[in-house]
Amino acid sequence: MMRLGIDLGGTNTVVGLCTLDGVLMDKISAPTKTGDPDGLCAVMHDLCRDLCDKHNIPYSEIEQIGIGLPGTLVKATCTLTFGTNLGMSNVCFAHAFEPEFNCPVNIDNDANCAALGEFYGGAGRGTRNLLMVTLGTGVGGGIVLEGKLYTGREDIAGEIGHMVIVPNGAPCNCGRHGCLETYASATGLIRLAREAMEQCPDTCLHAMVQENGGKLTAKMVCDARDAGDALADRVFNDYCDYLACGLTNLINVFQPDAIVIGGGVAGYGEKLLMPLRERVHAQQFKIAPEGTPIVAATLGNDAGIIGAALL
Ligand SMILES: [Zn+2]
Repeated sequence: MMRLGIDLGGTNTVVGLCTLDGVLMDKISAPTKTGDPDGLCAVMHDLCRDLCDKHNIPYSEIEQIGIGLPGTLVKATCTLTFGTNLGMSNVCFAHAFEPEFNCPVNIDNDANCAALGEFYGGAGRGTRNLLMVTLGTGVGGGIVLEGKLYTGREDIAGEIGHMVIVPNGAPCNCGRHGCLETYASATGLIRLAREAMEQCPDTCLHAMVQENGGKLTAKMVCDARDAGDALADRVFNDYCDYLACGLTNLINVFQPDAIVIGGGVAGYGEKLLMPLRERVHAQQFKIAPEGTPIVAATLGNDAGIIGAALL
């Protein structure tokens, strides 16, 4: 038996063929049909068939099809209630793969699938309780408790990006102010840098932004810091303070075996993780001398596919 995991992104739909213990054998993709539920389901169905045909796997050998979705959903009815990036709402996937595939279809949001993928096959392997934090355009999260995804009363738990860390702070898309997401996402790092640059003409970031057509990225802040820029270093340290505050709050609530950090900002590697550990371990509740392990995600974009397959 095998499983299929689908990462339904706003741009691409990726289907992966996985073993029962979460080893990704192969994956194929096609552009996502946004705003067209029937077209979207047809593409997913075709990709599943093509992948099985390519490996000579009978459709009856597929034990489960899992889908990671960007949006709110009801797991029990396998329904996407609202998917902003997909341009559709109230789409039921329960029968989308029939008649060829008669196996159960399960859905969860993409951040939860990534957490489950890292839990089974990535940086979280061997843990029982795991938090995954994704630092991208926003701050995403997934909570694995006693080996199971925790999704809460309405299947929308794990929104750690919307924990307020600065009362009356920067406005957030969710309507609150001072959410972790507004400080600790890549977007937050860029905003912090922009604000600091306005007060400080003496930083190489001005020239870098000009060279880049006026655009500032999180990587440029990291590059400027690596080049010894004092302002970039100060901004980065502030960023670490905010992120460490959020992670410490989470550790004190959940006491996970590890926190896995993924997303674009995590590409800065140990230069991010070392100052984070220093701050978090100094603040968190703990009995043993060592603090909670904070490690980089290892599966990249495959985490969501593997996690979906294992739902
Ligand atoms: Zn928010």
